[in-house]
Amino acid sequence: PEDLVSDRFATLSPHDRAVRMVDNNIRHAGAVLLGPVPEDAGLSKAVSITSSQIISMIEESGLRGCGGAGFTTGRKWRFAAAERTERSFVICNADEGEPGTFKDRVLLTERPHLLIEGMTIAARAVGAKEGILYLRGEYVYLRELLEQVLEERRRRGLLGKAILGTKRFDFDIRIQMGAGAYICGEEGALISSCEGLPGEPKTRPPFPVNRGYLGYPTVVNNVETFCHAARILDQGAKWFHDIGTEGSHGTKLFSVCGDCLNPGIYELPYGHSVWELLEMVGGQDAAAVQVGGPSGAMIARDSFHRKLTFDDLATGGAIIVFNGQRNILEIVDYYMSFFVHESCGYCTPCRVGNVFLQKAIEKFRKGLANPEDIDYLKDLSGTIIETSRCGLGMTSPNPVLSTLANFPLVYSAMTQPSKDGIRATFDIQSA
Ligand code: SF4
Repeated sequence: PEDLVSDRFATLSPHDRAVRMVDNNIRHAGAVLLGPVPEDAGLSKAVSITSSQIISMIEESGLRGCGGAGFTTGRKWRFAAAERTERSFVICNADEGEPGTFKDRVLLTERPHLLIEGMTIAARAVGAKEGILYLRGEYVYLRELLEQVLEERRRRGLLGKAILGTKRFDFDIRIQMGAGAYICGEEGALISSCEGLPGEPKTRPPFPVNRGYLGYPTVVNNVETFCHAARILDQGAKWFHDIGTEGSHGTKLFSVCGDCLNPGIYELPYGHSVWELLEMVGGQDAAAVQVGGPSGAMIARDSFHRKLTFDDLATGGAIIVFNGQRNILEIVDYYMSFFVHESCGYCTPCRVGNVFLQKAIEKFRKGLANPEDIDYLKDLSGTIIETSRCGLGMTSPNPVLSTLANFPLVYSAMTQPSKDGIRATFDIQSA
């Protein structure tokens, strides 16, 4: 709508813009999380049925983790419920650190009750009495708001002892602040951080649902996943299952930024193409789109027909739009410097390999690369992926590999002198 590109819109703060985009988005799609949400209807349903029935509803809905990995939420909860011991935990991963991703921030700000409701439903399902909301260090300004929400829910009998008057349904949540490390968004590192240990991933198995926080069964889900769970309990498994595509059910929140007219948060049913999203956000001139942040893939215009689903282009939510004037190698260089900085340093392939990858990219940027360096990039990337211990290392070469696959001319041009003998910076348009 015109008002979103008006002068008045341009003067709004980034937060208010995001909220406006939420309003805008509701007109575009049948919103599940960003539309009107009846308070605690899902929790009321959860206390009226058994734990097993709750898990069955989540399984039948087809809900999958919204943080990026896409593991089936119902299965995760069932595994944790089967391990039930004297202590179990529910942890919300609100360590949203992927560059270009800011959807959880909007949910934390606009839908905090829905999030806590979802965590409480998960606790009921797996028999947990203790919960942790692991909040990204940079979101410290949200802590006061979230503490107020927790306190209000305790007062209203929605948290604490005998929730909604239900015997033996006790559950409470504490907020744990992160300290700005991207790796703490990884499940094992997040649990280590909660335990007061350095934020390093844990070796698997055992998986957190078997032995997680302090060695007890632990369910870790993303903010968006918990919010969806609350809506499913309210509206029913079939309602959610019928949205989206076969294999990717429900809606997804996308954080859209970069070279487009209307950046912001968009909620869409799974199955829209990249083109359709670009049309909504005023990004039709895009020459490249980064789907899923640095750990995702950069695609070119000939792939914009592809669908935003788990089976095609899976994403935790980040959509970064680049126009034809952007220097693709500069973007890759930036992403690699991010991974070099954020590697926890535990294993050599990631700690050292990413430094070598970045140095090789610098070589291309300076026009000093040989054709063989392209093979070097591929070989080194493969080694890092296969030998790294956790998801950070396993995905860190993706900026290199996806641009090699989708923008090969960008690389090959930088291995050959141009006509006048000067190797110029190579932008997307030229490719
Ligand atoms: Fe740490 Fe990287 Fe190894 Fe993961 S892959 S454990 S982030 S060094």
